[in-house]
Amino acid sequence: MIEGLIEEIKKFRDVRDWKQFHTPENLAKSINIEAGELLECFQWNSDYKKDEVKQELADVLIYCLFMLDAVDLDFYDIVSEKMKLNGEKYSVEKAKGNSKKSNKL
Ligand SMILES: [Mg+2]
Repeated sequence: MIEGLIEEIKKFRDVRDWKQFHTPENLAKSINIEAGELLECFQWNSDYKKDEVKQELADVLIYCLFMLDAVDLDFYDIVSEKMKLNGEKYSVEKAKGNSKKSNKL
């Protein structure tokens, strides 16, 4: 499922000849810029417009998918590997109901 989506966004990029701009550095900046726009949806209060959140979250995710391609990483591989590490860092016994960072548990 995600493979088809990745192919779709790569096609979107390639027909516009934008790959030349998609260096890892530029993509890291773009992810951060879009994350800032996502945060802006909650500026001043906790009310938010779901459609705006949807748009900005999609921007973040699209740039993340471009980043995967730029650095030749696989979505499932890196997420499953990180979740395994998170499971070790945040054992249920130590972390359940606790929002502290792993080194503070
Ligand atoms: Mg945006």
